[in-house]
Amino acid sequence: ERSKLNRLRDTHASTLDGETINLLANIEGPKDLPAVKTANADGIGLYRTEFLFIGRDTLPDEDEQYEAYRSVLKALPTKPVTIRTFDVGADKALAGAPARVEPNPALGLRAVRYSLAEPKMFLTQLRALLRASAHGKLQIMIPMLAHAQEIDQCLALIDKAKTELRAEKQKFDEAVQIGGMIEIPAAALSLGMFIRRLSFLSIGTNDLIQYTLAIDRSDEAVVHLYDPLHPAVLKLIGGTIATGARYGVPVSVCGEMAGDPSYTLLLLGMGLRNFSMHPGNILEIKQQILRSDLSDLAPKVQRILKMDEPARVREAVERLAT
Ligand code: PEP
Ligand code: MG
Repeated sequence: ERSKLNRLRDTHASTLDGETINLLANIEGPKDLPAVKTANADGIGLYRTEFLFIGRDTLPDEDEQYEAYRSVLKALPTKPVTIRTFDVGADKALAGAPARVEPNPALGLRAVRYSLAEPKMFLTQLRALLRASAHGKLQIMIPMLAHAQEIDQCLALIDKAKTELRAEKQKFDEAVQIGGMIEIPAAALSLGMFIRRLSFLSIGTNDLIQYTLAIDRSDEAVVHLYDPLHPAVLKLIGGTIATGARYGVPVSVCGEMAGDPSYTLLLLGMGLRNFSMHPGNILEIKQQILRSDLSDLAPKVQRILKMDEPARVREAVERLAT
């Protein structure tokens, strides 16, 4: 089965009715580049930069970060590379940074909240990212947005980093695109303020499901209640994809749902055109896409989005594949 899939490596991912789908890779660092090449991904949809310093005692300085980001951009010189700013806190504790004890880490100081609380650390990362942008098609992505003011603060820091770099005569891409993750239900329900400020959106289904259903991703006792097909989850994902399309803002999904073949047809029918996943899943998802017909899927998925009986939803999603 693997060798059959491997034959799809150089096949263009398009649906039976001719729509091109972008299949992007999620990576943790330059170590994952061989897998990206093997899958012939259309780019990087999510580089989880916090892995740069998980399991070590000191924060990587600007030059070390710059080297890591640049090596990824240089490996994919013509393809989009989306690098996410640090998503630390909660389950991803940060060695070398101030430690805090939080009663509810998933609801606490994590991701963009953490970065904005540590502006010196954040500015170092933004400078490293901007310097790396001279070497490819970088897009910077901000995780865990809930408030417009969080983006405004990020954009102000990016401007500050650019001003510094200009003064130092360092090269960077002046037009580097800034996007954000939609992974808090509040964000999915107030897309206008994100769309007005950002160039692209990416749905983090892992956290979106966690926060919509109030299920701790890391708590075994409630994991059976973690349900990507919960009608509320589907409405938030479907709504985000549709709103992005309406305003011409590219939307991707970079949570685990994007790499799970049981959800490919559902997401295609919602209008998703950008899937980002573990590179090892890309060819299997491509196989699903090559068999799909959007004109057939779209009306069926519109009906699924109106359903609120879980057993019917599940059955209808399974029937998409027949
Ligand atoms: C997500 O939440 O779906 C996501 C892609 O981010 P992470 O899994 O790193 O929180
Ligand atoms: Mg997340």
